[in-house]
Amino acid sequence: MVVELISVGTEILMGNIVNTNAAFLAEQCASMGLVCYYQTTVGDNEKRLLETVNTAMDRADLIILSGGLGPTGDDITKEVCAKATGRKLVMDGASRVAIEKYFEKMNRVPTDNNWKQAQVPEGCIVMHNDNGTAPGMIIEHEKATLILLPGPPGELIPMFNDSVKPYISGKQEAVMVSQTVKIVGMGESAVAAAIADLFDSQTNPTIATYAKTGEVHLRVTARAEDEKKARKLLKPMIKDLKERFNEHIYTTDPEITLEEAVVELLVNNELTVSTVESCTGGLVAGRLINVSGVSEVFKMGHITYSNKAKRKIIGVKRSTLDKYGAVSEQVAREMAKGGALLSKSDVVVSITGIAGPDGGSEAKPVGLVYIGCCVKGNVRVQEYHFSGNRAKIRASAVAAALVLIRECVLEYVSQVTFGKKK
Ligand code: ATP
Ligand code: MG
Repeated sequence: MVVELISVGTEILMGNIVNTNAAFLAEQCASMGLVCYYQTTVGDNEKRLLETVNTAMDRADLIILSGGLGPTGDDITKEVCAKATGRKLVMDGASRVAIEKYFEKMNRVPTDNNWKQAQVPEGCIVMHNDNGTAPGMIIEHEKATLILLPGPPGELIPMFNDSVKPYISGKQEAVMVSQTVKIVGMGESAVAAAIADLFDSQTNPTIATYAKTGEVHLRVTARAEDEKKARKLLKPMIKDLKERFNEHIYTTDPEITLEEAVVELLVNNELTVSTVESCTGGLVAGRLINVSGVSEVFKMGHITYSNKAKRKIIGVKRSTLDKYGAVSEQVAREMAKGGALLSKSDVVVSITGIAGPDGGSEAKPVGLVYIGCCVKGNVRVQEYHFSGNRAKIRASAVAAALVLIRECVLEYVSQVTFGKKK
């Protein structure tokens, strides 16, 4: 099935907003096995939108439009699509009630404009909007099917997942099912080398690699006549990948993030955690606190940027700073130990590095970062050399810190389990 995406909005054309809807929809469509040849962005202009819709109807089976469903005069998507498919607009009773209820909940009174949103092209399938007032619509026209979605991503994404995805799956002869294997502690080329044979012989399922900051994701996709059969095809490949990458895999669930996996590991092992950060300025604490439920384990985060703060708050020795410098294995070690003493946490991660663009030297170049991790008094420090600009180096350091916490905790847990802990 050939799909075409049309993003409606002068704001997008002017560069005022980034077209994240198109990225989301394109990725979703690809993962469902739909082929997309064209994406168009068009402003809030009736003539040009009509032209765009007509062109798309000539070359695609399915057209997904986003934006322009709101109550104001510049929202014209529905009207244009009705015109393109030769339908009139009629009042949809269920949407009218939904709008009434929505405004009641918000303690506001709807205006005449708002009722305009309850009008839909005759004979279309209406998709209820749980997160706003504009319903979505599916117009099954003989030339192509048009799917109209509201612009705000907070409305578009749930509507796509809850209503559009099942609709499209129901129309497809074959279904595609994907699973994501998320890997840490290995670079993209090492991962690629480890699966080179699978890569060369791939047919069904297929495998694709995606490099992320500090992580590599493998997406395995199977195609079959129903979901059950597709999942069965995926199984041996996932098993094989688990054997190849074992502890480097932190999840096979596409929804789980690295910080969620780390927090889950800490919670399951009843280990509290604190952070002592220099160049990452609280970003590691921020990623951990992204996770709801982290309060069970997260105790405190320190940003000790200056040498004085490292000494006075965390207890790094002046002599260590003088002898080795703030960006050194020794200081990372004392930061982790000092943090453990201060916070009485089971796990403390410390980060000190040179994020640049200034401050580097031949001996200590920009991108040099030391990360320490203290688990129940035992400290491990690792040296890293990251590349890129300041933001990229800091983001890489944050991911590496999360990975190091995971590795050190797994090591600790296996020692405790096997009774070998010194
Ligand atoms: P509303 O009822 O809010 O007017 P709408 O369906 O008419 O919704 P638009 O008016 O086109 O949608 O866009 C509303 C907002 O949704 C935009 O200001 C922007 O914040 C967001 N938005 C719209 N299109 C996109 C897009 N393609 N990518 C990301 N965000 C978008
Ligand atoms: Mg609008």
